[in-house]
Amino acid sequence: MSKRQIAMVMDLNKCIGCQTCTMACKTQWTNRNGRDYMYWNNVETAPGKGYPRGWQESGGGFNDEGELKEGRIPSLTEDYGKPLEINYEEALGIGPDGPSTPWTGVTRPHLKPEDEKFTTPNWDEDEGEGEFPNSFFFYLPRICNHCSNPACLASCPRKAIYKREEDGIVLVDQSRCRGYQHCVAGCPYKKVYFNPMFSRSEKCIFCYPRVEQGKPPACAKQCPGRIRFVGYLDDEASPVYALVKKWKVAVPLRPDFGTQPNVYYVPPLSPPKYDEQGRLTDKPRIPIKLLTGLFGPETPRILETLKIEREKKKRGEPSELMDTLIAYRHDEMFTITDEEEQGF
Ligand code: SF4
Ligand code: SF4
Repeated sequence: MSKRQIAMVMDLNKCIGCQTCTMACKTQWTNRNGRDYMYWNNVETAPGKGYPRGWQESGGGFNDEGELKEGRIPSLTEDYGKPLEINYEEALGIGPDGPSTPWTGVTRPHLKPEDEKFTTPNWDEDEGEGEFPNSFFFYLPRICNHCSNPACLASCPRKAIYKREEDGIVLVDQSRCRGYQHCVAGCPYKKVYFNPMFSRSEKCIFCYPRVEQGKPPACAKQCPGRIRFVGYLDDEASPVYALVKKWKVAVPLRPDFGTQPNVYYVPPLSPPKYDEQGRLTDKPRIPIKLLTGLFGPETPRILETLKIEREKKKRGEPSELMDTLIAYRHDEMFTITDEEEQGF
């Protein structure tokens, strides 16, 4: 549907869950005017309920016959979480008791105990699963996947969603949108959001004004973990090409949803499991079934490749794959040259 496709690769072995990306996006695009509740970029703990709550079980996407599947619209008040209330008077020592008032963090008197934790961009925090000492979790950053077969676009009866020909970025035409929310239900990743102030749907725009200047999206540029690579899928000089097409170690999240996402993930390796006597085994702590469910059937092969290449690097041998993933030079992670510059 587009002449070229821009893509992002996220290396989950490097995400530290700092939410810098979340804040880079929020301060740039969603900190006012009905967007306050939205996180176009969020980082959730896996396994967990995710954001919005239960998105993986919310339907949408396509079935094996390529037909749209029915989806659910998440509840604005329940599934996206409650706003965190900071007690600024106490925090800043400007309350009636003056500067000696101790910091008590937050006040959340309106919340039911079961909703207490549904208040932050990552409400699962570091819970994960498993029993100590074999407990585990990893961070899963998510943006709109700017899919090649976008279910949001296919769901819209107003033809308000379109995919740009020059780079494949998926956008909502605000002048055509009437706020029916079919796209919210149709996106299986729940990455379209309803703006109740303007009664329109809105979503991640892959920072297209930055991309048009050859710059990466803010979430990628500001990531201190250097986990995000950005480039065109047909640009053989791009690390995105190397990771997705050459090494084939980056794959989409939930490919079974049928939307052909263009955000790719390097699945996480995991520490070894302990046996009952407390000895290390050769079994991975994150169940392979969980990872395969998220990243598809190629996951075991990818993890094996990563292990082999990592061992090479440890022995002091060269590894092009590891050098790419380590990302020694920040600027080399982003190759957003336009067609003319590349001679297309
Ligand atoms: S992730 Fe959802 S909103 Fe984004 S392009 Fe795909 S279907 Fe549309
Ligand atoms: S900024 Fe980078 S390292 Fe931090 S949470 Fe986001 S993706 Fe992970």
